[in-house]
Amino acid sequence: MSALLILGGTAEARELAGVLHGRGVPVISSLAGRVAAPRLPPGEVRIGGFGGPEGLGRWLVERHVFAVVDATHPFAARMSASAFEACASAGMPLLRLERPGWVERLDDRWHWVDDVAAAAEAVERLGSRALLALGRQEVAAFAGMDSTWFLIRSVGPPDPPLPPRHELLLDRGPFTVSGEIGVLRAHRINVVVTRDSGGDQTAAKLDAARERGLSVIVVRRPPPPDTATVKTVVEAAAWANARADGAALPDESSRAGLRDLDRPGR
Ligand code: NAP
Repeated sequence: MSALLILGGTAEARELAGVLHGRGVPVISSLAGRVAAPRLPPGEVRIGGFGGPEGLGRWLVERHVFAVVDATHPFAARMSASAFEACASAGMPLLRLERPGWVERLDDRWHWVDDVAAAAEAVERLGSRALLALGRQEVAAFAGMDSTWFLIRSVGPPDPPLPPRHELLLDRGPFTVSGEIGVLRAHRINVVVTRDSGGDQTAAKLDAARERGLSVIVVRRPPPPDTATVKTVVEAAAWANARADGAALPDESSRAGLRDLDRPGR
């Protein structure tokens, strides 16, 4: 049976899978398999990489996928690029679902940087005790720094090497402002390092940092692929519904018409 593929790993991807599953749209959610006990979405789930764009392209054909929603994390750039390439080659409708980035307020003290290497350069100038709220693969960029103490918070153990002076805090959101203020105070944090992940689940650290007058180093999102993009689950569900209706059409010419309309980048 044909199905819609959701490239997941985010709260929005799970929510979208739940909405579509509830409406009877056949959905397969794909997870990278990085987290030991992931929160699973409703419907069919597959776990693990596809083997690059070629592997994904083959998988789309084998599983009779009729459309793809890339709802991966804003920093999962390789998966998004792979989806773009595979769908462009296969003439497969592709939609990017990406939550908006965080918006700086007048009373914030944010320092925008392009990548984690630039964040590592900036951190020593801005504080001596840093909360690192990054992906587990990004902590290694801080490994050579011995003048800063780090509280490293991540969902799973970060990939080595790690900075010499650190404490590990394995935890995942959603976090509350009062909880985050407690963490900052207990560890005498004077600078916060984060990516512009967006969303509500992990935004409390920004409110907590503002409350305490702390500097925040914010890593900008990588440039997105040239894919049609929506910001909300409601919009993505509407798009997916329309693709599902099109996939059920017996008339091949109508389906070809839909494919033209939905080329990646449109
Ligand atoms: P990435 O660097 O873009 O992906 C690396 C490789 O992992 C991809 O090329 C792909 O392997 C595989 N992969 C990634 N997402 C996949 C998915 N949803 N289904 C199947 N394979 C996937 O991404 P990442 O930073 O490793 O993130 C992995 C997953 O964790 C994503 O699904 C993302 O939504 C979620 N996540 C990421 C972050 C983050 O900060 N990056 C934060 C929260 C959640 P192949 O090339 O072999 O297909």
